Amino acid sequence: MIDDRVLLVHLPYMPATSSKKPKYRRIVLKISGEALRNDATGQAIDSDVLDRLAEELKSLRAIGTQVALVVGGGNIFRGLAGARSNGTDRTTGDNMGMLATVINGLALMDRLEKSGLEVRVMTAIPMDRIAEPFIQRRATRHLERGRIVIFVAGTGNPYCTTDYAAALRANEIGADAILKATKVDGVYDKDPMKHKDAKRYVKVSHAEALTKRLGVMDAEAFSLCEANKLPIIVFSMAERGAIKKAVMGQSIGTLVV
Ligand code: UDP
Repeated sequence: MIDDRVLLVHLPYMPATSSKKPKYRRIVLKISGEALRNDATGQAIDSDVLDRLAEELKSLRAIGTQVALVVGGGNIFRGLAGARSNGTDRTTGDNMGMLATVINGLALMDRLEKSGLEVRVMTAIPMDRIAEPFIQRRATRHLERGRIVIFVAGTGNPYCTTDYAAALRANEIGADAILKATKVDGVYDKDPMKHKDAKRYVKVSHAEALTKRLGVMDAEAFSLCEANKLPIIVFSMAERGAIKKAVMGQSIGTLVV
């Protein structure tokens, strides 16, 4: 059945399971802090989300795709919001936001390891009792050895976002795509929370996303992906099996390419 909310823009031919070979050899999976939150209970880090993520990442092991995670911190703290609500100095607030990503990253590490995956946490802000420093060559070595690498502390700089960190790290480690897991199941022509007739893009070019201001990522992060022709897949964390489908090249959420 065709979902009439879907805007069929340049709908690509995507056979369900044309081959067992993954389309993407190495990915950066960006998980927003919000995607970790349980809205019903107000818990910043939802245990069920961690479990599901572990399950999904385990399913990738068999197909050999290398996975690096960049985790956000918006479920705990955002520098800009802190500056607006309680007058926290922006740089201090951003540092707090980056530390929030470390908390999320450690929670992820713990759960992924308990599910049998090998994990390394690499931080952009040195804290050597907790995580390894980010060193590009070391990160790619971990990935080649089948370890999941979690990049925390964003870029290590204030006035940035973790989307920018995802774009940066994806380029640095030579990822084939960024998978952006959010609470929304793709990119819409207008806000689906406010407009019932909002339509989801199945596929859209970087240029069109930019001219139509579709808000796939913040402008800096997006232009880094555009400049390097890095595909971005925006999808919902709530959809089971979504990560594997995306990696296999099946249509999921919105593909920006
Ligand atoms: N942040 C930062 N530099 C970075 C990445 C993040 O200063 O390179 C701070 C910023 O305050 C941001 C917060 O960390 O608001 C949490 O990151 P983000 O808002 O990107 O998380 P998400 O929206 O993905 O949960």
